[in-house]
Amino acid sequence: MTTPAQTPPARSDFIRDIVAADLRDGRIREVVTRFPPEPNGYLHIGHAKSICLNFGIAREFGGRCHLRFDDTNPMKEEQEYIDAIERDIRWLGFDWGDHLYFASDYFEQLFEWAIHLVKAGKAYVDDLSADEIREYRGTLTEPGRPSPWRDRPVDENLDLFERMRAGEFPDGARVLRAKIDMASPNINLRDPVMYRILHAEHPRTGDAWCIYPMYDFAHGQSDAIEHITHSICTLEFEAHRPLYDWFIQNLPVPAEPHQYEFARLNLTHTVLSKRVLLRLVDEGVVRGWDDPRMPTLSGIRRRGFPPEGIRDFATLVGVAKTDSVVEVEYLEHTVRDVLNRRALRRFGVLDPLKVVLTDYPEGQVEEMDVPNNPEDPGAGTRKVPFSRELWIERDDFMEEPVRKFFRLAPGREVRLRSAYFITCDEVVKDEEGRIVELRCTHDPATRGGDAPDGRRPKATLHWVSAAHAVPAEVRLYEHLFTDPYPGVDGRDIFETVNPASEQVLTGCFVEPSLASLPVGETVQFERLGYFCPDRDSAPGALVFNRTLTLKDTWAKLRKQGKHDLA
Ligand code: ATP
Ligand code: MG
Repeated sequence: MTTPAQTPPARSDFIRDIVAADLRDGRIREVVTRFPPEPNGYLHIGHAKSICLNFGIAREFGGRCHLRFDDTNPMKEEQEYIDAIERDIRWLGFDWGDHLYFASDYFEQLFEWAIHLVKAGKAYVDDLSADEIREYRGTLTEPGRPSPWRDRPVDENLDLFERMRAGEFPDGARVLRAKIDMASPNINLRDPVMYRILHAEHPRTGDAWCIYPMYDFAHGQSDAIEHITHSICTLEFEAHRPLYDWFIQNLPVPAEPHQYEFARLNLTHTVLSKRVLLRLVDEGVVRGWDDPRMPTLSGIRRRGFPPEGIRDFATLVGVAKTDSVVEVEYLEHTVRDVLNRRALRRFGVLDPLKVVLTDYPEGQVEEMDVPNNPEDPGAGTRKVPFSRELWIERDDFMEEPVRKFFRLAPGREVRLRSAYFITCDEVVKDEEGRIVELRCTHDPATRGGDAPDGRRPKATLHWVSAAHAVPAEVRLYEHLFTDPYPGVDGRDIFETVNPASEQVLTGCFVEPSLASLPVGETVQFERLGYFCPDRDSAPGALVFNRTLTLKDTWAKLRKQGKHDLA
């Protein structure tokens, strides 16, 4: 049995060190962070790492963390995503209080700042098409070329930009660009686009705008408006930092946020990209954003992962400056640890085989006291009805037991957990020779599961009383991708979807107390794994998801030295 691990203490990391130093040296009085999702999909476990970091720092250092939706692209954003994101952050255990913001609330301010740059001769309206702009931009080895419109007079730029806003031009006709340096070795500084024309309805601003700021123009200024002290983001934005700093230096912003980049979370057998996740949903590979196989927070919640397990995982993987891939088994290991400590033990039989106790009175029912969690004596016991006819697991019996099979076999005695010792006397088969029933006898002196003479059967089985059993469907889950690094070898990600990622078992039986288990509450089916009721459950038609098996494959990987983390 594993030693119950405690919730890991927050480790220090380079970002926390910077925050601590800034507070100590008086560079800031209060730390203000933010989590800035774009509402164009559901949050995934990678986002959870960022949420735990941003909200965690605010909590640990007595500051605050804002939730800001970076809603600058009306083509892909939806209210459904906004609602889901808020729900998922709360579920993870974090709260932004009154500090809910939207980049779209800053559209007017951002527009004024764009005008400021135009007036200063630092932004211009360009008539080149998107393709031409790309071509003029050059490459990593060749400098860019200036657009023929780069030296437009300020008045003409002002006039055209106002008319872009007024809706005089069709989509794509013109853009506003920052005038920085077409020869910069950093391509982000080669006159990046600040505004584009999009005659599209925005979920929040409706049709008030037909020009929209690019993410790069909105992001840093939004941080400045909110007085964010530490703008924490993933490494792919490192090369954008000089551009963000350029805007901040050239605009009359109320504060100067500093950006720090950390390595994004990558997991084996998993895709963490909203674009790909959206395709999985749209193309029906999964049943929705909250399909239990999805790495989304709503998916793993439905699967039965507790938020504490995700938070522990975020702490354990830490915050680094170089990218790496973490084994998904490590996430499972961390979640299993939490469940092992907390989950109530219950009986469920996935592949039932009937046992009839020929020496047990018909119609008699005993209420057996069964511990709720042997790891936690404080969890108490429950009553489980026991009677003459029982279900046990089909693979707990072998007519001709192989070596090392210690469970039930003809003539052999085993223990039924917290009930009696039973011995198999007879095997009943149907016409096709399939075993349909075992006829057994019990030893009344072993009530509760112990023999007065101290004899100990080699196996203890779980069981459910047939007369009291509740039928259930059970859905077993495996990794969604067979490939440990989906998409990395250039193969289409969709070719490596695991055809066995979901296996549906019907005709299972669970103990009666499980009929009232709330959706999403995870229990251990003894000897089988962790399971929780799915939201597809209905009275009389229970559906359980397998959260995890009991087998800790990460521990095995660790023993073989095949792991990234100590
Ligand atoms: P995706 O790549 O899935 O589309 P994104 O970066 O476009 O994600 P955003 O909504 O912009 O999604 O992300 C919000 C925040 O979450 C950003 O600060 C981003 O850096 C962070 N984030 C996104 N993916 C990860 C990840 N895998 N690990 C850690 N942080 C992440
Ligand atoms: Mg992004």
